[in-house]
Amino acid sequence: MSSPELPHSSRREFLGAAAFALAGMGVSAPALMAQTAKGAPGQPPKRPPNPYVYQFKIGKIDCFSISDGHMLFRQGLDLMWPESDRPKMKDALVFNRERLDALPLYVNVLGLRIGDEVALIDAGFGERHPNPNFGWLAEGLKTLGIRPEQVTTGFLSHCHTDHLDGFVLGDKPAYPNAKIHMLKAEHDFWRGPNPDFSKSKRDKKPLPAMVKSVNRSFDILKDQIVFASDGQKVFHDAVTVIAAPGHTDGHACFEIRSGEESLVHISDVVHHHVLMFEDAGWTVAMDHDPETSVKTRKKLFTRMAAERSRAYGFHLPWPGLGTVVPKGEQYAWVPERFSWGS
Ligand SMILES: [Zn+2]
Repeated sequence: MSSPELPHSSRREFLGAAAFALAGMGVSAPALMAQTAKGAPGQPPKRPPNPYVYQFKIGKIDCFSISDGHMLFRQGLDLMWPESDRPKMKDALVFNRERLDALPLYVNVLGLRIGDEVALIDAGFGERHPNPNFGWLAEGLKTLGIRPEQVTTGFLSHCHTDHLDGFVLGDKPAYPNAKIHMLKAEHDFWRGPNPDFSKSKRDKKPLPAMVKSVNRSFDILKDQIVFASDGQKVFHDAVTVIAAPGHTDGHACFEIRSGEESLVHISDVVHHHVLMFEDAGWTVAMDHDPETSVKTRKKLFTRMAAERSRAYGFHLPWPGLGTVVPKGEQYAWVPERFSWGS
């Protein structure tokens, strides 16, 4: 998911932006109110405390899931396609006792720790984002005692705001020692002379600003970006990059493996914990190429349901851990229970 799209260049204007513009970007009314209720003059806006740090293991790897915040899409099912299936989507939401007035999306960052080295898979909105509902990753890392310099490896599933922006802090890299791995197809799409959004159902108005923002981030991160290929193993060979196109051209998922245990980070193959499982053919407006995203989702779900793989969803209810299970012809998301561990 990529909205609300808020390019760096326009952030300062954000606080003064008209409410209708914010609504169009998917920023909720409470978020707007919280945002305009700033802290003391000269002080940054108050952020809610971030208790959302969850630690777990994959084999011998210490892992953590940090909530970078949450989004609420007031457009609700108007964001979902095909349009003719919206009554069925509504039925699915009602049956599952989900809210109908808006689509809630979580923003989850998965981290891995091997020795002193830390890897982050995507980086959220960035700690300087003016919306207090976003950008909690830095605080979560602090809670875990992890310094930005310790992050030696980054993975970028794709370049939408909620995934890329946290790798940048102002006009500098947020994690100066990290090599950031991404598929070349993703890089080339945004760097191309004319990125093609013609198949996407998304609002086209914010796109020029979004392309500009991504390119600005690429400029800042140019010495850190490393092109990964499909199937390549990175970070002590524990993470395998999986090409998963559709949401964007070079969208990637990641399989983490240690010993007999594994987990598949499904990135933005799924945006809602009911809808895309109820029918893997339902798509969200932000997909660049909906037809390809459906193919990718079906392929991944078939494999994951057969293997009962442990999964992690960037936009699924925090901490994002669960399993994709077969349900008739389709699937269901079974979230993993919290474990208080040792
Ligand atoms: Zn996203």
